[in-house]
Amino acid sequence: MLKRTLKVRLYPTGWQKQALKELQIRCAKLWNRANYLVRQEFFKSGNILSYETVYNLVKNSPEYKALPTDIAQAVLKKLAESWKSFKELKKLEKKGKLPKHIKKVSPPKYFKDRKQNKTLPMSVIPILAPRSYSLGDFYFDVVVPKDFKQTYPIKKRLEFLATYKIPYTSYKFKRAEILNKNGRWYVHISVEAPKKEVKPKERVNYAGIDLGVRNLIVLAIYDVKRKLIRVYQFKSKELWKEWKYWTKKIAQYQSKLAKSGHKGKSLRLRKLYEKRQERLKLAIQQMANKIVQILERYNVKEVFVGDLTGIREGKNYGRELNKLLHNFWIRKQIEEILKYKLEEVGIDWSPIPEGYTSQICFNCGSKTIRPRRHFVVCQRCGKLHSDINGAINILKLGLKLKHLEWKKIREVHLIWKRKGTNRWVFKYLRIYKKHKDKVLVRTLANNPPVVVVHKDYCPKSSPAFLMRGG
Ligand SMILES: [Zn+2]
Repeated sequence: MLKRTLKVRLYPTGWQKQALKELQIRCAKLWNRANYLVRQEFFKSGNILSYETVYNLVKNSPEYKALPTDIAQAVLKKLAESWKSFKELKKLEKKGKLPKHIKKVSPPKYFKDRKQNKTLPMSVIPILAPRSYSLGDFYFDVVVPKDFKQTYPIKKRLEFLATYKIPYTSYKFKRAEILNKNGRWYVHISVEAPKKEVKPKERVNYAGIDLGVRNLIVLAIYDVKRKLIRVYQFKSKELWKEWKYWTKKIAQYQSKLAKSGHKGKSLRLRKLYEKRQERLKLAIQQMANKIVQILERYNVKEVFVGDLTGIREGKNYGRELNKLLHNFWIRKQIEEILKYKLEEVGIDWSPIPEGYTSQICFNCGSKTIRPRRHFVVCQRCGKLHSDINGAINILKLGLKLKHLEWKKIREVHLIWKRKGTNRWVFKYLRIYKKHKDKVLVRTLANNPPVVVVHKDYCPKSSPAFLMRGG
């Protein structure tokens, strides 16, 4: 199981902040009362009361009853954990093995300002189980004490506007804690996600990822053993066509609205914008899935990533494509989705510091010229697609190698097939070989026309993948 913390940002309104602060105070009061009992016993006998004992001692107190059960019990659990760690540190202290940053071991303290004799708010509001909270589309809600419903405009639960990202396909919610950090409110939810079984020994290869001129992403995988570089180009052209299709629809509808003298917001227009964004997001997500699938198949353990969000020197995407590829939101999306997906399967994500250049030839390191946007020419090595050159350069930078030992480059082109399939499908294959005098030679790939666009499309069964050269 992958134990992770899901961080959710909450946006409480004015009165909601008041309610949260009151909850914090109530938690602190229960903590203080229970902690008093444990401390008394500890100083008298040296024994630490168990959670059950403390629970039985305080369960009828007004402090306990002032909170919903799942919050009250979570406070007591936190107290018990705090005492447990105190006990463990004491043991270490006796053995003289205390970590250096801990100077003094003291029992759990009260949330109290002694000078003013005031209860201080507890740092977190713990919630024991997911039955007492829920996370939905843009909201988070939590149970509250019954009397809150008289003081605040609450019907059932206290509901906040919330934003978050869930990087897992399947997960289980555990305990949660609401906290305030620098004036911002968050809820941290412990989640358990199934971990993929990995045999680290099998993973031996490296990959580089970069933005492309004619590609949404270019992926270069280095097969260390076979001295083979596999390049995957995720072509942006088809995606761009679809983007244009929706943009046109939006424009058409806008002019229709203008003609009819419509004023104010239009629901249909908003939906069209939403649709355009959704379609793009779907393509990005499918691309990330495909990339993970490819990386796993070729036993990649670490991926070096170029600057996916910055605007880089020497990259001119063309006027129209610029609009799509230079959109920061899209690039951020690509980066985040990819990062999460790789983490999930345990592949390392290593960003390459900014300031690298894609103007040099990956093969010999000499400066390239660029007669056209999409290809570079090296005086020694010949013509090469500039996107491939970029991705392999990232790979080289990550491996800190001046020279890559390679014999062959297999370049696979994938396009976004939207009609019927919504998948990235194989388009064609190209192979480069290294000549004796170190010149790249583009060889004729046995490039069969592929018409595999069925629902159960699988690259493994596609003829191009069957003939793995090597
Ligand atoms: Zn060269």
